[in-house]
Amino acid sequence: MESFDVTQADPDAGGPPPPIEIMRPRLPAATSMMPFLSRIDETRIYSNYGPLWREFCVGFAGWLGARAGQDGVRVVPTSSGTTAIQIALQLRATPGRRFCLMPSWTFIASAHAICGAGLTPWLVDVDEESFMLTPHQAMAALRAMPEPPAAVLVVSAFGAPVDVPAWAEFERETGIPVVFDAAAAATSLNHIGPQPLCISLHATKVFGIGEGGTIITTDTALADKALAMTGFGFQGTERVSSIRGGNYRLSEYSAAMGLAVLDSIDAKIASMLSLGAAYTDALRNSPCRIQSGAGTAYAAMSLNVICPADRLDRVLARFDAGNIQWRRWWGLGTHLHPAFTDLPRSDLPVTEDLAPRVIGVPFHDMLTAEEIGRVADALR
Ligand SMILES: *Cc1c(COP(=O)(O)O)cnc(C)c1O
Repeated sequence: MESFDVTQADPDAGGPPPPIEIMRPRLPAATSMMPFLSRIDETRIYSNYGPLWREFCVGFAGWLGARAGQDGVRVVPTSSGTTAIQIALQLRATPGRRFCLMPSWTFIASAHAICGAGLTPWLVDVDEESFMLTPHQAMAALRAMPEPPAAVLVVSAFGAPVDVPAWAEFERETGIPVVFDAAAAATSLNHIGPQPLCISLHATKVFGIGEGGTIITTDTALADKALAMTGFGFQGTERVSSIRGGNYRLSEYSAAMGLAVLDSIDAKIASMLSLGAAYTDALRNSPCRIQSGAGTAYAAMSLNVICPADRLDRVLARFDAGNIQWRRWWGLGTHLHPAFTDLPRSDLPVTEDLAPRVIGVPFHDMLTAEEIGRVADALR
């Protein structure tokens, strides 16, 4: 157990209650990495698609494929979730076109990745229920744009599963390539197809290894090209760039952590799901509703509640008075970030209504039942 700061006031003495932190990531302990690290010492291979990297690719692809009931899954590790999205867009964007549709309400990395791929984000609204862009909304945006976009970036809302078949249908109908920013959805992918699913292996995600990312696809040719792009566009053994890319590789040390995570991920998912169940129980009669399915239908690393507009100020004041950390994980929308205020966009009524009211609450494996009770009390 963690010991609280000794300067903390005693709640019985009338001081502020002990703080409840919003997030405490937990990655495998150093001891579980040791067998893998010793292998690095022996082989003296530290990066460039080494044996641990290869083992991680095979193991992770097998694990993802088994969960989705899908054979032939390929994973291409990258240096981050952001670079996974950027590479996938560079590969898939229709040449000669400028824009990439994306929901304004997302983690800001989505916008940076699109710009990194040489495209301009065109911001669109999200669906009120799923918090995600729908094919229907994308169709409406297409009609309002001066020219067709190069691609669409669909974002998984805080790790919720994305509707892969619906977006495959959209792509068939429109010819516009789709890429998924499924950064937080590594453990909720129930459909894997050729359209690349980009996930983050950042420490704060369920499948966290520290820093890293992965492109997931059943398209072998796409995977081969993406892989080449992570290492200066070299294909085969020759030191010849056949495609433009950069250095987006995952080192053997990161692969070692990846293998340690693979060994323990099922237990971590079970632990996050039991926490989700405890929260669902505690908030059963709350006017603040948990994001649909989060923490119960799939394991999430953040838990978000939707506060009714007329309760929001009171809830946030209670959190602050009760020393309970809260966060708007995605802020209020890409269009409000100074770096991105000049982007073209469609109307964003749902984003403007929803984003201020979706509040991240404390969610980690050190929370006690008493602390969950305190959070639930504040949300009444
Ligand atoms: C975490 C996250 C990213 C970025 O992933 P990194 O590995 O930190 O680069 C992108 N999009 C969304 C929706 C995320 O949650």
